[in-house]
Amino acid sequence: MTSRFVLTHSNDGVAQARREIARTKSARVHQSAPKTLVAFSLSDLSPRPTTQRSAPHVVVGIWSLEAWLAGLGGLIDALNKAQRTFLFYEVDAAMPAGLISRPERVAAWFKESSGRKPSKRILETLKDNLVADDFFGLAEKIRRDLTLDYIIGVTPSMVAGTNGDELFWNHFSTFKDRALLTSGYQLHEFAHDTGCPLESFIGRIIVSQLLVAMMWPKLGFHNDTGCLFDYNESRASLKDRVKGLHIEPGCLKMIKRAYRPAALAFVDLLRSYGVTK
Ligand SMILES: [Zn+2]
Repeated sequence: MTSRFVLTHSNDGVAQARREIARTKSARVHQSAPKTLVAFSLSDLSPRPTTQRSAPHVVVGIWSLEAWLAGLGGLIDALNKAQRTFLFYEVDAAMPAGLISRPERVAAWFKESSGRKPSKRILETLKDNLVADDFFGLAEKIRRDLTLDYIIGVTPSMVAGTNGDELFWNHFSTFKDRALLTSGYQLHEFAHDTGCPLESFIGRIIVSQLLVAMMWPKLGFHNDTGCLFDYNESRASLKDRVKGLHIEPGCLKMIKRAYRPAALAFVDLLRSYGVTK
């Protein structure tokens, strides 16, 4: 399914994208509290004052690497319908062959980064990973060309990267400044096991990593409690508590006030994906 929110990274596409985003940014967002937080009263029926605080849109591009995510257009439409602070676009950009996850590339990365050759056992666990540093440079260039606030790559592989001196792999997501990399690995299986659509899982990874990247280091991932910001060290734990997904008060406080209604609306959307399908 193709969304009407598509930006193409080509000579003509870049100029068009810049015009469209400039227009979007000049239209300020009038934010209202989400339905779940508002008690209904007669005053809700009166016209809203025109002097509400407003904020510019946050424009986010989602780039499905290797075009593996067929339902991305539907997810983008749903995310945009759920709230008005963030505006999501599908990014259509060429994927260089070198960026596709290859076992020999991950092995070379491990050796360069750790100074030792990976053992056979480690090699086995590394092989389905995309190295985040291979992605960030290119993603940042596309982000700047298209004048996006954030760009999010979605790869069918898992995510490997470095955190200071530490190496990590088999992760769901990571980020560097305004470029984010998320993983759809195993999500078809999770969707099959739970009866929830794939989009509810990939949407959760995208939204949680986006909010963490925006609020870092105040907001980060933590031990699993059923919160949107669970670390999910055991990847399969993502399947748990789809329906009870929430944002803990402590984590909500770490999200800037202007973004809280949208964050809560995202969680409502992700939960409803779990219930209705
Ligand atoms: Zn939390």
